[in-house]
Amino acid sequence: MQQKECMIVRDLLFSYAEELTSDNTKVFLENHLKECSKCRSIYQDILEEVEAQRAKESGRDKRFLYKLKRYRYQILGAFLGMLLTIAFIIGLVFYGIWTSRERSSTEIFTNKIQDYGSFEDYHGYSKLSLFPPKDLTAQNGEILEYIYDCSGPKLYQTCQIYLECSYTAEEYAKEVQRLQQIKDDGTGLLALYSPDGYEYPAIYTMKNTDTCNEYVLLLEEEQKIIYIYLQGIVDRRDLHFQEKYLPLDYGQDGMNFEDVESYNIY
Ligand SMILES: [Zn+2]
Repeated sequence: MQQKECMIVRDLLFSYAEELTSDNTKVFLENHLKECSKCRSIYQDILEEVEAQRAKESGRDKRFLYKLKRYRYQILGAFLGMLLTIAFIIGLVFYGIWTSRERSSTEIFTNKIQDYGSFEDYHGYSKLSLFPPKDLTAQNGEILEYIYDCSGPKLYQTCQIYLECSYTAEEYAKEVQRLQQIKDDGTGLLALYSPDGYEYPAIYTMKNTDTCNEYVLLLEEEQKIIYIYLQGIVDRRDLHFQEKYLPLDYGQDGMNFEDVESYNIY
């Protein structure tokens, strides 16, 4: 009987040393250990083992804490460095978004006749060589209508520039002569005369190159000249002037709005 109880006790000694037993079991074990020297001696061994293990673990914890203390500045530094890097990256992203908004926010519109001649914010493909100098027009002709509408980022601006001038017979002849002698600074091309590309006789320097059109329409009977510059895909619904002043083949190069719509599967 004593032998059997010892076996049960020894099975439980580890748990007891680790303080994992219930109160009842604890009382039972303590009573047994008081009376049984063999079990007591085994318990002593187990207790030493468990305590040694505990000491080892707490030593490891202490060494870890010591290292943490010793290297806290390095750790703090690394952490701050990481924070700064993240802040820097976030800053870069916001800066990028902000500047791209700046770049794309160019939008200039005027329909005031007195504004004609200042193309300071114009960044289009054409040098606008056909348009008369501001002072020349003031001396020799009368501006009836002027519309300047450019928007989008510098290199991809969509532009509509429309200028309608009225001349006396003499002025009209002079202006036509001036137009026919114009050289386009960039390409060296002469302004070309087009009798049938437009509703009216026309002179142009750019026609459907990169969806650019720069031309004048000669309305001889009315002694009027209409100067037009179109850049990018201008939807006909957004035109600021009459459709009959567009080139006859306008938008038939496969890159205009109506074509895009016809390919829309919805
Ligand atoms: Zn025993």
